[in-house]
Amino acid sequence: MLSVQRAATGTSTRQLGVRTFFGTSSRAKQRLVILGSGWGGYEILRAIDKKRWSEECSLDVIMVSPTNYFNFTPLLASCSVGTLEFRAAVEPVRRYTPDVIAYTAWCDSIDFKHKKLVCMPATSPVTFEGSQTQSNGGSDVNESASLVTGNTEKFQLTYDKLVIAVGAYNQTFNVPGVKEHAHFLKDIRDARRIRTRILECFEQANQPTITDADRRKLLNFCIVGGGPTGVEFAAELHDFLHSDIARHYPALARMAKINLYDVAPHILGGFDTGLQEYATAKFKREGIRLLTQHHVERVEEGRMFVTEEGEVNFGLLVWSTGLSPNPLIESITELKKDERTKRSLLTNGTLNVLKADTGAPDPDVFAIGDACTIETEALPATAQVANQQAKYLTKRLNRLIKSSSASASSSDAASADAAAFKFQNAGSLAYVGDWEAIFDRTKAARGPKGKETGRVAWLLWRSAYFTKTLSVRNKILVPMYWFLNWIFGRDLTRF
Ligand SMILES: Cc1cc2nc3c(=O)[nH]c(=O)nc-3n(C[C@H](O)[C@H](O)[C@H](O)COP(=O)(O)OP(=O)(O)OC[C@H]3O[C@@H](n4cnc5c(N)ncnc54)[C@H](O)[C@@H]3O)c2cc1C
Repeated sequence: MLSVQRAATGTSTRQLGVRTFFGTSSRAKQRLVILGSGWGGYEILRAIDKKRWSEECSLDVIMVSPTNYFNFTPLLASCSVGTLEFRAAVEPVRRYTPDVIAYTAWCDSIDFKHKKLVCMPATSPVTFEGSQTQSNGGSDVNESASLVTGNTEKFQLTYDKLVIAVGAYNQTFNVPGVKEHAHFLKDIRDARRIRTRILECFEQANQPTITDADRRKLLNFCIVGGGPTGVEFAAELHDFLHSDIARHYPALARMAKINLYDVAPHILGGFDTGLQEYATAKFKREGIRLLTQHHVERVEEGRMFVTEEGEVNFGLLVWSTGLSPNPLIESITELKKDERTKRSLLTNGTLNVLKADTGAPDPDVFAIGDACTIETEALPATAQVANQQAKYLTKRLNRLIKSSSASASSSDAASADAAAFKFQNAGSLAYVGDWEAIFDRTKAARGPKGKETGRVAWLLWRSAYFTKTLSVRNKILVPMYWFLNWIFGRDLTRF
């Protein structure tokens, strides 16, 4: 792994049990560190002029993220029921190494004064214990017991420019039992767990020894959160139950139920009212139970307690009720935070974070995506915003190359005279099932304003996500899986 080798060439010093990497040669180089490989961070990694940064500015681009991939989140709901295969919805960070250095690690804390980060490897320790017998020139040699572990030692990195793009976590509103017994849908691994669980429910319910009452409990699918993620998952699940599941488990499919809970009076709160009504009517027609103004009090294994309904048994519970702060953002005290959402750092219009004591922008530190709120404009926590902010920031960072002060000055990229970021709302899309979608362009920044529903919106939904898919590989895989699953059905194997 080149990144590790490069880091290891620097002199490593130990401070407070944390390994620090800043050897003489690498310290002479400027460092752009990007935290997070999501919609914000990955776009910067992709679009930053890596060769010129390295050759002309003598600068290392370093990515720190606990996953070595990017999640194409709008396709996660499709992956969770097998409409798409998992690898079609991720892009590897390693595509850009060795031009950049990448560490699969969490950033645990940031020392803004000394421009240092403490990171924790996100690679789980692997342990092999026991003896091995190896053949050595005809005679067997019994090797002594060996213990090999992955390294979980914290390490320190220094930065000259820092982009904080760590996103946000799932909101649970401290409802007891949610973290332990519900599924979230934020990462491709969540989608895989959900898909396995759905198939597990049907295989268990198919056992001859099980009672019908227990079958009904297992096949009761609950979703909490009527935002776009909850709605799209309900829609995808409905499609799955009414196509492949109905074909292969006809009796069980009739017992299966989908319930969508929300505390609000309507689903899809951010959408135009007419579109909310369209989605509501469609779900009702399709037999998806909409339980708005319902409050989940606590969750236990296989059941939850709802104020308005009492005990509700489920085989699968998917929880999607918005965002809570990333612990890294919570741990930061030196910067201003958004008092309203409490989940993000406040930035100025040029996406520089603001110092808590003086309110002045830090010229070398930027925040984008779900982890940031611009002080003058509250933007939605969407991939669209994160991606546009990343594009804006990449342009500014690339401009540094041309600037004579690129060598070491820290003041320029963040200069106050740079034009402020402007969000261009392209509209919102949501899949509502059965090859239908809704498209809200009532707040669009450019082009025709209006709304669209049904098949036309579905075509727009699919073409938008096909167009936005990043790599050529996935541009081939995504339509290929759509086509294959349409012809042959989704894969029902569980392993
Ligand atoms: C299922 C689903 C569907 C969605 N559909 C849409 C859609 O159709 N349209 C739309 O506009 N938006 C959509 N969104 C919202 C969109 O995905 C988010 O707004 C977007 O991902 C935010 O981008 P981000 O870069 O800020 O954070 P993220 O994409 O969440 O990325 C954060 C990154 O930071 C990493 N990270 C976390 N903590 C640390 C740490 N301590 N150190 C280093 N790295 C860290 C994470 O591993 C991750 O790589 C959807 C979201 C979900 C969950």
